[in-house]
Amino acid sequence: MAQIVPPKYVRQVLMRLQAHGFPAYLVGGCVRDTLMNTHPNDWDICTAATPEQITGVFPHSRPTGIRHGTVTVSIHSHAVEVTTFRADGSYSDHRHPDQVRFVGDLTADLARRDFTMNAIALSAEGILIDPFGGAADIQKRVIRCVGEPRERFEEDALRMLRCLRFSARLGFSVDGATLAAIGECAPLTATLAAERVRDELQKTLLTASPEALFLFSDLGLLDSYLDKRMQEQLSLCRIAGLPRRTPERWAALCRLLEQQGCISSTERFLSALRLDHRTIRICREACRILREPLPESPKAWKQCLRISGVESAAVAARVADVLLSGGHTRALKEVLKSGECFSLSHLAVTGNDLSALGFQGRAVGEMLDFLLDYVIEYPENNKRELLLLLAGTTEE
Ligand code: ATP
Ligand code: MG
Repeated sequence: MAQIVPPKYVRQVLMRLQAHGFPAYLVGGCVRDTLMNTHPNDWDICTAATPEQITGVFPHSRPTGIRHGTVTVSIHSHAVEVTTFRADGSYSDHRHPDQVRFVGDLTADLARRDFTMNAIALSAEGILIDPFGGAADIQKRVIRCVGEPRERFEEDALRMLRCLRFSARLGFSVDGATLAAIGECAPLTATLAAERVRDELQKTLLTASPEALFLFSDLGLLDSYLDKRMQEQLSLCRIAGLPRRTPERWAALCRLLEQQGCISSTERFLSALRLDHRTIRICREACRILREPLPESPKAWKQCLRISGVESAAVAARVADVLLSGGHTRALKEVLKSGECFSLSHLAVTGNDLSALGFQGRAVGEMLDFLLDYVIEYPENNKRELLLLLAGTTEE
């Protein structure tokens, strides 16, 4: 039996519900993780109590997903999500159930869940309720839909992406019928909100097996976002060598997609997936740097920093270290450590200084650019008097 036991506050929630006559169980990811002997991110509880009854039992609680019957209970400074047993109605849009129905029955609640490994309940006494054979599938390390895979993907197309994401994260294989149904139902992903697709891709990108994204593309789950499917998986393995941070991993993915001709613009691809502006900007700049030969001298790095900024240059260097060859991050760090000037904000003269010398309008910017070029070439000369003299003598 599993060695990981739920913390005391979680057991208290379960027992208090039961003491009020409401059956209550741990369910979903926390049971799966416990059976795999890994620590769950959070502990979710399902119960026969309605949302009103849950708030009646726990005064420090608030409804957080009333449509889905979820109440967040605060207990000893922890938050636990407690959800009423429910069965989902039909799904005419392949995304949302038309209506959800609260039911008194745990098995009906487990039946609406996506995969057998996620459809196991665990009681406070340590008893597993596992009507779909989830524990055996966990043992076999296989992901299998609850029920008929095609129907389940037709109900909610996101489950196909969740399946491949869990497979990447847990290192599980996908059951044959489930995989075949993904191939058949892949076009339904076109109906999904881009944000939901992005979240699944990003979670997969941040696992130890980002090369799983090849399968997303190969099965057609990304057809709405790619000009053509990926042809090559091996290079995606290199992404695992990057820190688990979003800008680095998205930038590396975009660069590989560009190289394989799957996207024509990183910015357009990431915007379609509703990535945030900062990540889009960093990835766009990093990919621009990566398209050219990487800087080889401190001077070239300073020019690169001047144009793209420190953040994007650092991301490009880290991506280049894993996709091309090592040493770029180290070289960039040396340049940054030197403290040498690469931006107007560190130039020893300002626009005001030049105005005082008689420069006007565009000439101010042009002279600043000229002086920055000069200082990048001769870092030891970033001195106010010297630059003013230079500006004065260079004045047309
Ligand atoms: P994680 O550790 O990534 O949070 P999880 O299994 O807890 O994994 P959640 O997305 O938090 O995943 O969902 C909690 C549970 O709700 C799942 O274990 C599953 O039982 C159910 N579930 C979530 N999304 C769906 C879905 N789209 N279709 C069916 N069941 C789902
Ligand atoms: Mg979860």
